[in-house]
Amino acid sequence: MSIPLANRVNETQISGIRKVFDLAAKMKNPINLSIGQPDFPVPEAIKKACCNAINANRNSYSQTQGIPDLREALKLRHNITDGQLLITSAVSGGLLLSCLALLNQGDEILMPDPYFVMYKQLPLMLGAKPVFYDTFPNWKIDLSRIESLITPRTKAILVNSPNNPTGAVLTRNELSDLGNILRKHNLLAISDEIYSSFCYDSQFTAMHEVYPHTLTLSGFSKSHAITGWRLGYAFGPEELIAAMTKFQQFTFVCAPTMVQAAGVACLAYDVQHYCDEYREKRNIIYHGLIEAGYDVEKPGGAFYIFPKVPSGYASDDEFVNACIANDLLLIPSNVFSERNTHFRISYAASNETIERGLAVLKKLYKK
Ligand code: PLP
Repeated sequence: MSIPLANRVNETQISGIRKVFDLAAKMKNPINLSIGQPDFPVPEAIKKACCNAINANRNSYSQTQGIPDLREALKLRHNITDGQLLITSAVSGGLLLSCLALLNQGDEILMPDPYFVMYKQLPLMLGAKPVFYDTFPNWKIDLSRIESLITPRTKAILVNSPNNPTGAVLTRNELSDLGNILRKHNLLAISDEIYSSFCYDSQFTAMHEVYPHTLTLSGFSKSHAITGWRLGYAFGPEELIAAMTKFQQFTFVCAPTMVQAAGVACLAYDVQHYCDEYREKRNIIYHGLIEAGYDVEKPGGAFYIFPKVPSGYASDDEFVNACIANDLLLIPSNVFSERNTHFRISYAASNETIERGLAVLKKLYKK
């Protein structure tokens, strides 16, 4: 008997990243530069904090808004009030809740292209419309282009710095100039700051510092290598946080309680040495690609680099398939973009894996 699936099932694309994940599982010894998570192990103190919480029987539901000790630590860190904060099931949870709280059918939400995969799919699931502000070819924001895309249906703009998949970091001035446009149109910013710990050449600027009408989404998945634990948080306007809390009650209920307890240990753990290691990796991959002839911007953050497909290949898929035939796993740009001209490398890998990947990329480069 057939299942009467909702229309949104067919309207939602299967993540191109999952396809590469599945492929990697079947390969013997792939050179895997496709993974969007850190390659370092979870720091011992954080593992211990999680185990201790389990052993202390902190295993039941927590309050929807999160456990008091983590809330207090986050309020202090970000200088925010109680009503401005919600602990979420990672940034993905915060993204879903914010879309549920903001988007009616037919509403529009601005987002960068290239974008993190979920940005496009969540509004579509809700019958809303993703509207892209193109950042090709150097990943800079073009303010007049953004302003021209604002309509009476625009509800918010997504900002993501450092960016997945480009690694681009927006400067304080760029964010502030964007804030001025948003102020003029009374538009909410949703700032995804999940990669804020990985800024290599400048200090990180948070969007809310230059534009207070911002919902900030952040979390510990990338900074502390706990992508499987599902812990994040959202802070911003009280009215929006209250709406998101309502939807958390009826969806996630709460972020995993023992992981929330470990979140306090995450906040006490300085990840600067990981950032320093990743800066090294950024340098290795960037200089290797330039040497091989690739057209690529130097990324200032996250752990991705987004080169142009060399001429001689018809598309990103053709190039990525050639890489896969050489055991190298990458992600084509069409997964993150309306364009098919680039590819994403994640350099969250051992230096040896990066060097092996570079050797294949050098071999496959065509003028
Ligand atoms: N936002 C961006 C820009 C990401 O790259 C990712 C994961 O790759 C997420 C959000 C989701 O992170 P989380 O594990 O916190 O749900």
